[in-house]
Amino acid sequence: MSKLQIAVRDIADEMRERTDRGEVATYIPELANVDRKHFGIAVVGVDGEVVVGGDHDMPFSIQSVSKVFTLTLALGKAGDRLWQRVGREPSGSPFNSVVQLEYERGKPRNPFINAGAIAVTDLILSGHQPREALGEILRFIRFLADDQSIGIDEKVAASEQRTGFRNAALANYMKSFGVLDNPVDLTLGVYFHQCAIAMSCLQLARAGRYLAMSGRNPATGHPVINAERARRINAVMLTCGHYDGSGEFAYRVGLPGKSGVGGGILCVAPGKASIAVWSPGLDAAGNSHLGRVALEALTRRMGWSIFGA
Ligand code: GLU
Repeated sequence: MSKLQIAVRDIADEMRERTDRGEVATYIPELANVDRKHFGIAVVGVDGEVVVGGDHDMPFSIQSVSKVFTLTLALGKAGDRLWQRVGREPSGSPFNSVVQLEYERGKPRNPFINAGAIAVTDLILSGHQPREALGEILRFIRFLADDQSIGIDEKVAASEQRTGFRNAALANYMKSFGVLDNPVDLTLGVYFHQCAIAMSCLQLARAGRYLAMSGRNPATGHPVINAERARRINAVMLTCGHYDGSGEFAYRVGLPGKSGVGGGILCVAPGKASIAVWSPGLDAAGNSHLGRVALEALTRRMGWSIFGA
């Protein structure tokens, strides 16, 4: 067994036994039904080595992890003009905070808090019907993961659509400042559906490989994005990928990562591997508790922190 295989096996065994599992998100009613007992991990190395553990092939709601892929798409469409609409500073505020938007006149702090992600989705939507925009997002993710079976959990999308009052407030507020170009309900419809994409750890780790490989798609060797852009997306993931828990994640794990309230985290060890973990119980900042614990253990054992072994 390789060092990585042993580490993943040990971590999956330990996570199965842990009783501190955090709390599942309940503000999206459909997510409240997910069993906290799940834990999955998948590591896809840049050399092609694939190592998995626990519930690695069980699909879960990727939620905000989708924001990595929409940011990549939107940068492809708008280039650096995107940064006129959305900042790239950590927010230090909860993922759905409203107050910061008022201070900053409708310009979201970064593309990974909800307001910023809604503004990014609005950019992808411009010039398209919502169905086309969603199709583009889904096709991109399927292409990255090299897996046509990835789809949307319509029940989760409908559940969030029914209860997404906070996101509607954020979107309407941005609209009042002219930050959104499209009708608020259409932008939100695409946003709720992108968050409801269901993927397994293995699919997610495969989809994230381009960020570990300087923007290249390992299946073809062709660039998805250029190396500079991959580096910069990783930088935003490191500083903003875990909301007001981003500092703690950098301190403990030391890798760029993006979490979602479904309990998934996509994590990038540049030049080494793309990693996905899933455990539905969240900490107070809305990030997967055991997901973070597992990644901390993995980076420590493999010496993968970007800040030094
Ligand atoms: N769809 C969720 C929301 O907008 C995403 C939040 C998250 O995953 O952190 O509330």
